[in-house]
Amino acid sequence: DIDPLNVCALIVTAGEGARILPFVAGLEDELFEHDGQITKREIRAMTLSALAPRHGQLLWDIGAGSGSIGIEWMLAGQSLKTIAIEQSPERAARIARNASAFGVPHLAVVEGAAPGALVGLPEPDAIFLGGGGSEAGVIDAAIAALKRGGRLVANAVTLEMEAVLLCEHAKRGGSLTRIEIARAGALGGMSGWRPAMPVTQWRWTK
Ligand code: SAH
Repeated sequence: DIDPLNVCALIVTAGEGARILPFVAGLEDELFEHDGQITKREIRAMTLSALAPRHGQLLWDIGAGSGSIGIEWMLAGQSLKTIAIEQSPERAARIARNASAFGVPHLAVVEGAAPGALVGLPEPDAIFLGGGGSEAGVIDAAIAALKRGGRLVANAVTLEMEAVLLCEHAKRGGSLTRIEIARAGALGGMSGWRPAMPVTQWRWTK
């Protein structure tokens, strides 16, 4: 017997393979088409929290990879907008496919390399830097374009990018967070923690 007012029962009857999306950031990695270059679920949730989407705001997702950050930004509210900047043509096409699959086909994809590809884009309220940040001029161009009061969140996995973020933090302030995630997995007949690479996150408000 199904109670039509009981949403849980209806979801269960939606059947295996149904795509059930929660309303908060941190969707399963496997819901996105990706090639391994994706901000992992737990880190994505913390990143979206730091980006702090608010009505009507525009995000630049620089080095957008699969587009997961920009897509979750748009899923936080119908008025939210994203411009995803990605230098790899293959990944740029993937971002567009993911955006369509998540019901946000109006996500704008700019295929090109920052900082050049940033020229002339509308000023963002928030910027996520997931790639390219260690290349000359990218952080300066991002900061120059950011609106006053806007948030910049940059994640580093490589030592080179981390060095850049430590420098920026020393120069401009903001906050640094180190995020270490481990997932339990099989280890012989038992199980153990499988650590993901640590991420250094710099948050700064203009
Ligand atoms: N946050 C993404 C993963 C980013 S991986 C996700 O969740 O899917 C980093 C990406 O930055 C790669 O796709 C790489 O091609 C891109 N990239 C590196 N340097 C860049 C630059 N200068 N301009 C644009 N994209 C760049």
